[in-house]
Amino acid sequence: MVLEKKVLLERMTSKQVQEAVKESNGIVIIPVGAVENHGPALPLNTDTLYTEHVVRRAAAEVGVVVAPIVPWGNTEQQMGFAGTIHIKNQTLIELVKDIGRSLARHGFDKIVVVNGHGGNIAPLDIACEELKYETGALLCNIAVWELEKVPKPAGAPEIDAHGGSQEASTDLAISPEDVDMESAVKGELLVDWPAGAVPWPRCSGRVGAISIFATSDEISEYGIFGDPAFASAERGQKVLDAWTRVLVDFLQQLKQGEITLRRAQPST
Ligand SMILES: [Zn+2]
Repeated sequence: MVLEKKVLLERMTSKQVQEAVKESNGIVIIPVGAVENHGPALPLNTDTLYTEHVVRRAAAEVGVVVAPIVPWGNTEQQMGFAGTIHIKNQTLIELVKDIGRSLARHGFDKIVVVNGHGGNIAPLDIACEELKYETGALLCNIAVWELEKVPKPAGAPEIDAHGGSQEASTDLAISPEDVDMESAVKGELLVDWPAGAVPWPRCSGRVGAISIFATSDEISEYGIFGDPAFASAERGQKVLDAWTRVLVDFLQQLKQGEITLRRAQPST
């Protein structure tokens, strides 16, 4: 990927970082991915791949700084499958807080956490909240896959999430050599509760008032949800472009000072 501007923090000198703090209006992105099972066809770093791709493109377009990606996440739900590297919620919270605290000390006062994995939402919410109170910086927690919904092809299963055709599509667009479509299988679901009787069990994220927690191998044969057979590089590119566009719009507003927090000023 060609970067229009030099935005990767680890490739700058210390002096260049000081300049970049001013040029970016204090905005730094901390991307967070995962190393976890994505079924027989897709690489373990699928979430990291699309997160890094979108973040780098958006940062280059707007002119903000990107910290090195945190490649691991809270993936206990996928530990039934070899290769998954799970780091505890507490570890992830402290790691992201350490990174954010360092960046804040050097002048970044707008910290944008961009996350590619559902299991990271809760720990990153805590990290962002605690960092805000500790540093006084503006904190955002963004879920990349929620930035825009791109319609699925006709016939694709209703549930098309982890390891499904959308993630297969983004992998095909970014790193086709890591995808083994000949081994692709549909994620056969193991849950046969009566429809509408109780909420679907979940591994992470919030879907309604009642949550029943499950590991991915308790609810799916291969730990995936969807059917990679409906994937294409063309669709993947569309998805990546859409996510990048929404992130660019947000970062531009943030950089131009259109998104700020004010504090109440009681008159007496
Ligand atoms: Zn994924």
